[in-house]
Amino acid sequence: MEGLRSLVQKWEWKNRNEANGTFTQVTIDVETVLRENFVRAITFQVFPVNTILYQVVVEDKGNFLVNLIEKTCECNRFQQDEIPCAHAIAIFAKTQLKTYDYVADYYKTTTMKATYESAVHPLPNESEWKLLETLDKISLPPKTRKPPG
Ligand SMILES: [Zn+2]
Repeated sequence: MEGLRSLVQKWEWKNRNEANGTFTQVTIDVETVLRENFVRAITFQVFPVNTILYQVVVEDKGNFLVNLIEKTCECNRFQQDEIPCAHAIAIFAKTQLKTYDYVADYYKTTTMKATYESAVHPLPNESEWKLLETLDKISLPPKTRKPPG
């Protein structure tokens, strides 16, 4: 149990430091994905269907329909990862829409900070432990009669 408690304490410390050291609105890994998608999106052409639907044309790959309300794309990356795919980012680059508004909340550093704000404290020395009285007693199986058959 002490090994598990110690492991969780290390994870909490590492993740809290990562969240506090990040100056972006999302985690470092997601920021990397967004930047890669932005680079891929540079050559994409965007044609609005309406304010919600956009057709993104990628040379040699075809057309992708992006729905900004449902946060979906025909490539399926947008809805699976809940991170804007390159097709969605092509839309954001040509409109006033903000990429971070379309990233799931659990990738945001504010969520990460809230998750790891509490600390995992070490246990006191074993001599200072206060055991419950029931732990000193021996538990016996219940007195029941075995039914026939
Ligand atoms: Zn896509």
